[in-house]
Amino acid sequence: MKKEDIQKLISKNLEGFESNLRPLAGFKLNFSANEGFHKIFFSASCTCGTSALLSVEVSENKSDNEIEDAMTSIIERLLTQEKSFRRMNCELHESMRTGFLPDKS
Ligand SMILES: [Zn+2]
Repeated sequence: MKKEDIQKLISKNLEGFESNLRPLAGFKLNFSANEGFHKIFFSASCTCGTSALLSVEVSENKSDNEIEDAMTSIIERLLTQEKSFRRMNCELHESMRTGFLPDKS
């Protein structure tokens, strides 16, 4: 399964949840230290304008079936990340705004 397809599958699976994550496509920066993994990015944004970068890793060696089997735990990981972002108040959001976003350099 290609990275884009995994992302699509995740998005589709997220539809059943109370979640507001946007897939980040064409993310060129590779700050994943793990080789052999697809790193798939989503963003969660708050009304204060802060966005958080969420990501999950899926092994490139997984077969399509294995990826589908892993979907539940992938979704869970994303939802947990989203929840901790939503649990913070906006003061915290503001202060982490620069630190949380990917370095542009
Ligand atoms: Zn906020």
